[in-house]
Amino acid sequence: MKKSHLFTPGPTPIPPDALLAMSQPIDYHRSEDTVALIKDVLKKMKHVFQTDNDVLFLTSSGTGAMDGAVANLLCKDDKVIVIRSGKFGERWSEICEAYGVQVIPIDVRWGDSVAPEIVESTLSTHPEAKAVFATLCETSTGALHDIEALADMTKSTQTLLVVDAVSALGADDLQMDNWGVDVVVSCSQKGLMTPPGLAFAALNQRAWKAVNRSNLPKYYLDYRKAHERGIEGSVPFTPAVTLLAALQYALNRICEDGIQETICRHNRMAIATRSAIKAIGLPLFATSPANTLTSIRLPEEFDGKVFVKMMREKHGITYAGGQGNLSGKIVRIAHLGWMNENDVIVAISAFERGIAEMGYDVPLGAGVTAVQEVLKNSMD
Ligand code: PMP
Repeated sequence: MKKSHLFTPGPTPIPPDALLAMSQPIDYHRSEDTVALIKDVLKKMKHVFQTDNDVLFLTSSGTGAMDGAVANLLCKDDKVIVIRSGKFGERWSEICEAYGVQVIPIDVRWGDSVAPEIVESTLSTHPEAKAVFATLCETSTGALHDIEALADMTKSTQTLLVVDAVSALGADDLQMDNWGVDVVVSCSQKGLMTPPGLAFAALNQRAWKAVNRSNLPKYYLDYRKAHERGIEGSVPFTPAVTLLAALQYALNRICEDGIQETICRHNRMAIATRSAIKAIGLPLFATSPANTLTSIRLPEEFDGKVFVKMMREKHGITYAGGQGNLSGKIVRIAHLGWMNENDVIVAISAFERGIAEMGYDVPLGAGVTAVQEVLKNSMD
């Protein structure tokens, strides 16, 4: 018998009550019950986004909310600053270019996080930039970016700060209102413990002003339509009702614990995982790792693609491999969403066994012992 464990940074496992909610008979999306459901979900999302601004939703994957941010905030030929430290920073660039927006790139070595001073000097050279596009956790490398420091710079300028919190929402701290972040986008299948198919965005007053001047083409991803309907518990188009039902249960769990405790749980899992990897003797890939996932640099002689395939097929353990240039070179272990400390023990014990099977010389149990030590100390 093979039991499957999903340790990818999205999709992530779904709690049982959310799974059950999706097996209930489907409802009409204009029924009073669905109106109440949408209102409840959007109210709870404010807590997760740590904002008093309204949160809007789209039926799309996370990229839909990113695409929508560009299409709704900007005009053709606007200049924007894009922080590119991995695949998802690059995605911001690609979307901007698709809409005819001019990109001023800040390229950061994959695995590193942007130095706030570089953003500051780029902002002073390009005060005309309409926005800075950043990523809270660059999922392709596991690096966390200092969004608070970036917001500190942008909030006193005319430039908006737009943050991709697709993977990190609920795992790494992002205090939209307290820090002064203008736009945050995210989606359902990561920290929100719901299947893929819903995307979210929250905009502050400054950002809504930009929406009013934007002249880029938009239809399905029109933020204003989604926002105006959403606050009435309605939608411009048929939404993924089944996913909304699941999300309500997932959000109940986050709200019961509170967003800060939810982030702390992710922090404990991340610290335990990092400490295990060090005990195993492998380097972490990110210089400033996120709570969302841990990226591990594999030994030169190791084929990461073979390892990931073997773990899934032989052991039922799904980790994520590297993307782009990192393919085969790193392994990414997520500790995200419906997971706790016990899941970390499973992830690490399987990892140790797997790399030992691939011929890596590791004292079995070294990683698990390190996890247990961290957990013991965090409970003292
Ligand atoms: N941004 C980040 C940081 C992500 O991790 C992902 C998904 N891995 C995306 C954007 C794209 O989201 P989606 O695949 O849901 O469109």
